[in-house]
Amino acid sequence: MATISPSLPPQEESAARVVSDQRLRDRFGRALTDLRLSVTDRCNYRCVYCRTGNEGAQYTELAIEEYLRMVRILVSLGIEKVRLTGGEPLLRSGLVEMVRELSTLKTAFLPDGTPTNDGLPLDLALTTNGHLLDGLAMPLKEAGLRRVTVSMDAVDAETFATITRVPRSYDRVLAGIRKAADAGLGPVKVNCVLLRGFNDHQIEGFAAFSRRENVIVRFIEFMPLEEDRSWRPETVVPMREILKRLDAYRPLVELPQHSASETARRFTFDDGIGEIGIIAPVSQPFCGHCSRIRITSDGKLRTCLFSQSDHDLYGRMLRGGTDEQLAAYIRQVVLHKEERHHIGEPGFEKPSRNMVHIGG
Ligand code: SF4
Repeated sequence: MATISPSLPPQEESAARVVSDQRLRDRFGRALTDLRLSVTDRCNYRCVYCRTGNEGAQYTELAIEEYLRMVRILVSLGIEKVRLTGGEPLLRSGLVEMVRELSTLKTAFLPDGTPTNDGLPLDLALTTNGHLLDGLAMPLKEAGLRRVTVSMDAVDAETFATITRVPRSYDRVLAGIRKAADAGLGPVKVNCVLLRGFNDHQIEGFAAFSRRENVIVRFIEFMPLEEDRSWRPETVVPMREILKRLDAYRPLVELPQHSASETARRFTFDDGIGEIGIIAPVSQPFCGHCSRIRITSDGKLRTCLFSQSDHDLYGRMLRGGTDEQLAAYIRQVVLHKEERHHIGEPGFEKPSRNMVHIGG
């Protein structure tokens, strides 16, 4: 059986933390250093666990300069990492130029929280379905992108087409992953949302894929974020089951996490080849160290994936808010960030938006 080290402290512990620096923090003392920015909610896939609703949905995108202004303000408040998401971000025109602009920004605080005028470059990452990655990996790398994560839920073309409902895309995604690695955007992470009855038969195939392609495969427990609200607990493949399957495939060894706010538990195999991550928001929530805040493609702030409401940052911008006023508004909103999600608990309410309109 895998050697598993005790890692994250229980959720309740978050309230105990009291700190003094000026970085953006919620009332539990959690520093918000990671921004997930959705630059479009258009997507060229119709994945069965996400785009389960109507075809005619409206799409929203702001001007690139408007997103850049929001990011600059958030960086001045302590954001260190920016992950570009969608919908599918590679569909967004002007994305390479946007990355080039973002790569000129520097953090406003040193790692110990001291304000600085000479901070570190932002950690720029992007999550994509990989369909357009082959042609954009190099330009994005040259523009300043550091890391790429590819959402890929199968390692064979047939299952891939069944889940994405897009034919003949698997080979393109594979080519995109290899091109991203060649371009220096690695180690490339491949995120797989596991759904019982759809792709849970792929666990061993993904383990072999990680070892063969030298990518980090991360399994994600299915969360109730789909369009038609069909999520049921029994469709979730929990972490303990994934570990049991992988350990039977080849003995696992747990790896240390890079930081307390990292969402994945990390493992390799007994020969050190391949890396597997497991993100278990349902069976082993990690909200106690949550460092994330999101901006949706229509410019709303979301303090949690499972928020019941949005906060209209873009509206305040349109009404002439100054950077100082918008920064004060963001601080106010973050003070009310949810402590944690309540999936599986009595009274759990699904979020006010689904994944394609949040951006992961
Ligand atoms: S569910 Fe909300 S609080 Fe928990 S980790 Fe995700 S975004 Fe953070």
